[in-house]
Amino acid sequence: MARRKLVYEGKAKILYEGPEPSTLVQYFKDDATAFNAKKKDVIEGKGVLNNRLSEFFMTGLNTVGVPTHFIKRINMREQLIRAVEIIPLEVIVRNFAAGTLAKRLGLEEGAALPRPIVEFCLKDDALGDPLVSEEHIIAFNWASQQDLDDMLALALRVNDFLSGVMYGVGIRVADFKIEIGRVFDGDYQRLIVADEISPDSCRFWDLKTGEKLDKDVFRQELGSLTDAYTEVAQRLGVMPKNATPVNKPTLVN
Ligand code: C5P
Repeated sequence: MARRKLVYEGKAKILYEGPEPSTLVQYFKDDATAFNAKKKDVIEGKGVLNNRLSEFFMTGLNTVGVPTHFIKRINMREQLIRAVEIIPLEVIVRNFAAGTLAKRLGLEEGAALPRPIVEFCLKDDALGDPLVSEEHIIAFNWASQQDLDDMLALALRVNDFLSGVMYGVGIRVADFKIEIGRVFDGDYQRLIVADEISPDSCRFWDLKTGEKLDKDVFRQELGSLTDAYTEVAQRLGVMPKNATPVNKPTLVN
């Protein structure tokens, strides 16, 4: 069988050339990294769970009219996506204080923020993805003012959708990160949600107990990451309740 052409390999995913023009195959690895790859491990089954969870969130977003790159899941670890020109910014939305915001401003983890706060970080591993202002973004031409307005609107719509869906299964969305890409229709460009939405890129807290069900379990060594992600998948109904062992997840469809 001919080997597919590798387009890009990141820390947690690989992109291969897709079967049609303007498509890619996104492969989810089991690799887990944190603190700009200073902490690394391989967590069996993580890629399978994130493939399925990202499919779940992106399909839901597409259905409610928030455009994403997701086309369809191909198998346990791969999905077909639209090729986009990634805007070199991480868009972070925060509802509750945690992580770098809590540290930077001396806030107590878990404090409710007065309103959702959107932050932009430059995607640059060598610099540790620094926080940047709208001034920087416009001045350095990473995105236009129109792009910024569209990114803000997209990010807040994703926040409303995610927060609502997760509230329905007893989980609080403390914060999350998305990436956004451009697609072109002739002379017109449109922005769509790209990359992934999974417990790797969100902070999910149990509403009643505050238990962490996201990558902080790995960052802070709080227990089994696959158990936490499996719990999220089971609550959302994308995995059967009695699926064991957790390191070899069984998928529903
Ligand atoms: O670390 P920090 O508090 O800035 O992260 C905010 C949110 O963005 C968290 O949900 C985290 O998982 C996510 N994030 C990410 N990739 C990064 C940085 C942050 O998914 N490179």
